[in-house]
Amino acid sequence: SRPSQFAVFGHPIAHSLSPRIHQAFAQQFGIALEYRTIDAAPSVFADAVRHFFSEEQGRGANVTLPHKSSAFALADERTEAAARAGTANVLTRLADGRLAAHNTDGAALVRDLTDRHRLDLRGHDTLLLGAGGAARAVAWSLFEAGVQTLTIVNRSPEAADALADAIGEPARVHTRYWEDLGNIGSFDLIVNATSAGTLGQALTLPLSLVGSRAVCYDLGYGASAFGFLAWARATGALHAYDGLGMLVEQAADAFQLWHGKRPDTEPVYKSLRTQGA
Ligand code: NDP
Repeated sequence: SRPSQFAVFGHPIAHSLSPRIHQAFAQQFGIALEYRTIDAAPSVFADAVRHFFSEEQGRGANVTLPHKSSAFALADERTEAAARAGTANVLTRLADGRLAAHNTDGAALVRDLTDRHRLDLRGHDTLLLGAGGAARAVAWSLFEAGVQTLTIVNRSPEAADALADAIGEPARVHTRYWEDLGNIGSFDLIVNATSAGTLGQALTLPLSLVGSRAVCYDLGYGASAFGFLAWARATGALHAYDGLGMLVEQAADAFQLWHGKRPDTEPVYKSLRTQGA
């Protein structure tokens, strides 16, 4: 019989690492699966998803840029994490054929920081740059993981304010204006959740943001993270990490949802690193 069907939807999607990651996880358990990339322009995304799940026996899909909001909107059921972010990075076909939306990005970032990079988030004054779909997912997870304070700064201040209001803990979670980045002091953890790097745009950030033992983290990886990580290293940050670990961790969450088994992420992460990702 045909192996189970999985896919990642994006636009563009050709260079996605997700097929390699899921095949490597599947090998750990001797599971046979088909996992392919589906390039869908925004106008045909909903139809492509319906076709995959109803005509091609699709069981699960990852969703990446620019479809995470649409994936959330078209699902029949949504987890709390997806509802908080307003976006979904995982779609799962339920036994009755309906689609469930999940968002595992926030949990994946926290696991990458705490398990892989051995960071104790408690007591960290944290700066979050961005208030898009990924930032909304990680803001909740960083807050729940116990960061001391969370300062959210977005180019468009309304989105940052809406995110802070949704979390609703003004003593720990507040917003500042992008224009004021030079005079809001320094942080222990700086998370870049903007898409500037992906869009090939440079972020101009003041050195004063970086505290003496600061950890800087870019959700992007590969070329899109170069600018922010170069800035972080130039400021003398203690550590500068890209989002490859988060990518592998969110894939592991999807894999567990679909197969009921927890893959070992470390060998897959290491192998992607040695292959230059
Ligand atoms: P969205 O389009 O939802 O949000 C983009 C955000 O970036 C907004 O806050 C936007 O601000 C900000 N932004 C864009 N350009 C600039 C700029 N030039 N200067 C300042 N701010 C800017 O994108 P996502 O939240 O979905 O994704 C953000 C990034 O995170 C992407 O690069 C994506 O690849 C990465 N990511 C990585 C994951 C991983 O597993 N490693 C998982 C999920 C995402 P404004 O509101 O003002 O427009």
